[in-house]
Amino acid sequence: MKFTELGLADTIVRAITEHGYDTPTPIQAQAIPAVLAGGDLLAGAQTGTGKTAGFVLPVLQKLSTTISGKSAKPRALILTPTRELAAQVAESVDIYGKYLPLKSMVMFGGVNINPQVRQIQKGIDILVATPGRLLDHHQQGNIDLSKVEILVLDEADRMLDMGFIHDIKRILKVLPKQRQNLLFSATFSDEIKTLADGLLNNPAMIEV
Ligand code: AMP
Repeated sequence: MKFTELGLADTIVRAITEHGYDTPTPIQAQAIPAVLAGGDLLAGAQTGTGKTAGFVLPVLQKLSTTISGKSAKPRALILTPTRELAAQVAESVDIYGKYLPLKSMVMFGGVNINPQVRQIQKGIDILVATPGRLLDHHQQGNIDLSKVEILVLDEADRMLDMGFIHDIKRILKVLPKQRQNLLFSATFSDEIKTLADGLLNNPAMIEV
């Protein structure tokens, strides 16, 4: 199996080949076509499986086929439990999307909010965020989430363990109802199943 066979654009395959990836990992081989097909996805995957590229690559592909203008509002929202993970995911977005004219941004708490506000104003296609700081921005009217087409919950089990369920629910309320939802989790407690049941529509299910 090669990345080109998964339906990814040449510009994306070139970036990942230059980054040193030759073959998709099992989660990528399953997740990429599932996300490109347009439906919701429930994925069971641990860190180290290549799960990040499993959602970042098809998100890049989907957004790149309809490039937005300068005043872009985020069309993909990736939520992560920690600032370290947010930074890692955002780095992957930059690396894999280096040949695409898409703007990405990472936002997390514990740092000054003002530079983030200025960056939001420059336009964002892909937003990687931790839930608390994203809500702060939304409550202050800094960010418009009404154009989000794809939502990714990365390490959803850790987000619940860290007590983010209420923040996530508040964020879900301000997103458009019509959107694609991807949920990645290493474990499946009853709490995760309840979240998945409420969030996902007839999802494709994969587990590695
Ligand atoms: P992740 O599970 O997303 O945290 O990725 C784990 C590690 O695998 C990261 O260091 C990635 O850069 C690397 N990786 C992801 N996909 C591939 C691939 N297809 N081939 C080789 N390495 C990969």
